[in-house]
Amino acid sequence: MNQPSFLDYRLSEDIQRALGIMKYESPTEVQQKVIPLALERKDLVVKAQTGSGKTAAFGIPVTELIEWEENKPQVLILTPTRELAVQVREDMTNIGRFKRIKATAVYGKEPFSKQRDELKQKTHIVVGTPGRVMDHIERETLVLDKIDYLIIDEADEMLNRGFLADVEAILQELPRDRVTMVFSATFPNDIERLCQKHMNEPVRIAIESSGVTASTIEHRLIEVRREDKLTVLQDVTVVENPDSCIIFCRTKEHVDTVYGELDQAGYSCERLHGGLEQEDRFAVMEGFKMGNFRYLVATDVAARGIDVDNVNLVINYDVPMEKESYVHRTGRTGRAGNAGKAITLATPHEASSFAPLRHSSNSISQRWMRRTQRKSRATKLRSKRS
Ligand code: AMP
Repeated sequence: MNQPSFLDYRLSEDIQRALGIMKYESPTEVQQKVIPLALERKDLVVKAQTGSGKTAAFGIPVTELIEWEENKPQVLILTPTRELAVQVREDMTNIGRFKRIKATAVYGKEPFSKQRDELKQKTHIVVGTPGRVMDHIERETLVLDKIDYLIIDEADEMLNRGFLADVEAILQELPRDRVTMVFSATFPNDIERLCQKHMNEPVRIAIESSGVTASTIEHRLIEVRREDKLTVLQDVTVVENPDSCIIFCRTKEHVDTVYGELDQAGYSCERLHGGLEQEDRFAVMEGFKMGNFRYLVATDVAARGIDVDNVNLVINYDVPMEKESYVHRTGRTGRAGNAGKAITLATPHEASSFAPLRHSSNSISQRWMRRTQRKSRATKLRSKRS
């Protein structure tokens, strides 16, 4: 069979050129399934994980279909977090750069007036979190009558964060004659209901693997006592010696503790959690993208939307609460065809009750752990001597 190609979709020269510069050589699985249908203006319900190339799956067709001359927004993309909103805005701007597509991101904790001024200018695409989008609608600073495409990204996360009521309120305000696409890693009942109520005979697409990523991620579980976690964490980093690693914690207190410990031990690291100023968060994310430091200690919330292709290790210092969160966290590694590893530190109790790990990963045996610790001690000793 021929290798699928972006040429198959007869995209305009402007979009093709942008994909070339972004080094998107061939479409990922989700892109192969979504792009042709989205170009036909079908409503789509897409089960796909982060890392699958889902942003470009909706980004390419809508950017292609946008009418440049229209001054009012034609595309509304809802995301669960500010970070993801910024990331998606960036992706849309990159895909649409030669078509001169203007995308604006609106999210909380940034001055309303700045966004209002941006929305007064020509804007083709608005990407935003539901609360702030609703604010703009209520204050009539976001015009909806030309919205032709609505994309709800990471719908399951919207639900987890309690944003579904806002999403429904926005749906009520939008023109009925529009294309709607919903992307989500899982489809709990509430999301299903939303799709049934607000979509027009949607085509369902399921990408079971995470496309560019799944086959390239190796999952491991280490059973460890709570009080040993910091030591084991350091052992793992010594042995794995990653160029770029995210360490996930469940709370910002844990982030501070782990960060403090690593910082003191001389690690090249930074931290990211919701307690930090937005500006600092962006600076840390930018620094991580640029490779200015190797270890990022973060909460789930703060790390959403981190789009870095070369993260080669994800460590779950705390076991994530839900399966979806595990999928999102580990989707930060093994991206764009790179190899990646996800290592989870779990207490025996967590390990036995956490389904995704029981089913999808290779548990690490005690023997492996002892070997790791020995290797770590030897490496530390060698570096002390030299
Ligand atoms: P996403 O699932 O949208 O977060 O995308 C995951 C990563 O894959 C991002 O870093 C994209 O830049 C990258 N990506 C998306 N589509 C392609 C493609 N067709 N070829 C290579 N990389 C891609």
